[in-house]
Amino acid sequence: MNGCPNVEKNKKKKIVILGAGLAGLRLGARLSEKGFQVELHEKESFVGGLLQTIERNGFIFDLGPHIFFDEYLDYYQRLLGDDLLRLHALYGIGFDRKQIQSPINPINLIKKVSPLRSIPLVGGLASRALFGSDVSRAQSADEWVTAKFGDRANEYFFRYYIEKSTGLTSTNVSAHWCTERHRFYKEHNLWGRALKVLSRLLKRSTGAPLTLYYTKKGAQIIAEKMADGIKTGGGSIVLNSKIVEIGVDNHRVRDIQVESRDGGKRRVDADLFANTLPITTLWNLLLQNESVANTESPLNLKFRNLWLFYFFIKRPRLSDKVQIYFPEKKYVFKRIYEPKNLNPAMGAPETTGVCVEVGYTDGDAISTITEDELAARVKNEMADFYSLKPDEFLEYFSLKVPYSYPIYELGYEHELMRAATWLFNTDNIFSLGRQGLFRYDFMTNRVMESADALAEFILSGKTKMEFFKTPNAKAPFF
Ligand SMILES: Cc1cc2nc3c(=O)[nH]c(=O)nc-3n(C[C@H](O)[C@H](O)[C@H](O)COP(=O)(O)OP(=O)(O)OC[C@H]3O[C@@H](n4cnc5c(N)ncnc54)[C@H](O)[C@@H]3O)c2cc1C
Repeated sequence: MNGCPNVEKNKKKKIVILGAGLAGLRLGARLSEKGFQVELHEKESFVGGLLQTIERNGFIFDLGPHIFFDEYLDYYQRLLGDDLLRLHALYGIGFDRKQIQSPINPINLIKKVSPLRSIPLVGGLASRALFGSDVSRAQSADEWVTAKFGDRANEYFFRYYIEKSTGLTSTNVSAHWCTERHRFYKEHNLWGRALKVLSRLLKRSTGAPLTLYYTKKGAQIIAEKMADGIKTGGGSIVLNSKIVEIGVDNHRVRDIQVESRDGGKRRVDADLFANTLPITTLWNLLLQNESVANTESPLNLKFRNLWLFYFFIKRPRLSDKVQIYFPEKKYVFKRIYEPKNLNPAMGAPETTGVCVEVGYTDGDAISTITEDELAARVKNEMADFYSLKPDEFLEYFSLKVPYSYPIYELGYEHELMRAATWLFNTDNIFSLGRQGLFRYDFMTNRVMESADALAEFILSGKTKMEFFKTPNAKAPFF
């Protein structure tokens, strides 16, 4: 690379990346290998953001499961080498005190759930699979799910799950919540649909597990190895460096101000700035500038937080599923994941560990109760579902994860568009990643994609106007 004219030219350009989660690290890696002076600022004492791994009692836990499919597989193979794990995994849905397969398999449903509930449910699913469904007019998540899967499926599997995930009733959640999560779904003609349903029935009746990937050391190793690559390429990553101000002059970012743990502050300038912080955090920092505050107001966008409870249980396994979704209202949690089903080598053979996810929004009922109160409730409900006795619960610990999911409240697009428009008109700052785009993105495909698209754009030397005008421009960044 050295000696190549573009690399030499790029060496004069400095890019400051706000945040060292997956999006920031990927962008940093792509640009440092092309000769840019790359500097990442991260408020925590570690890299990775949501890719955080906790080791306890021989178990490796992440903040919820961090597994991936085969997008970017070559890259992960090169990055992780022997640490990459390929595995077959089952997902489940906890319903009617049974573990049923996910994605829903009609045969398994009929076997496990009472006919009174399963027959109308399967009927609704089958008729929509065969004759299609029109979701084009659905505004809310509730309307989308009903049109797509029928009333019963909505009532049993989606309504309360959406409520637990967002903190809103599903009639107040935008249909985008569903389209984002089912974005690979395509409408087919009648024959295509019939064949698909048939092949799915055959495949799923065997309970075919999914092939997926994980690492032997947890998800954070991905971030650590990416960070090593950036440093080797000459880039720098400044930890414990919280961005507390962004200086703006006439639609141009002048510099950022960072604060270290000891309270010391300094200004950092650059040619380009790439934001991966939550879009609301970015916006509040921009609003500190009079020139922005004169024309803009705070964004009405919210993120859902998670309170994760990690329990150690005196049983070799609680289930054979990597993760089980809990759509019923009676359970406060929405998902339980059991890492031993990702890597059986963890922990002692007679003990398992699980991570229980409870959603909350600042100021709601869950956010105001104590850790012990919530742990007791979670334990009671787990005991009910898994028939666990009190002495099978060993120790536990808990962790709060802010900014876990964007909340797609009806009308949120308008708010997001305000931020996107401001960023579009400001040539030297970009926003990307799950938090920076306010999108329900997974790490392997869309978060990496947004960083790659921005890297391509920066390397193209185009203006935002030129780039966004390009037909079919793939632009998952603002
Ligand atoms: C419970 C859960 C389970 C998940 N499971 C999967 C899965 O199985 N598979 C999958 O593909 N994806 C999964 N994901 C999604 C995945 O974690 C994210 O897509 C990805 O990690 C997002 O990366 P990011 O860089 O966009 O954001 P982040 O990781 O949030 O990075 C943003 C960074 O900015 C830093 N920051 C914030 N404010 C400041 C500030 N003021 N100054 C400096 N730094 C700051 C943060 O500390 C953080 O490091 C899951 C997510 C959650 C919440």
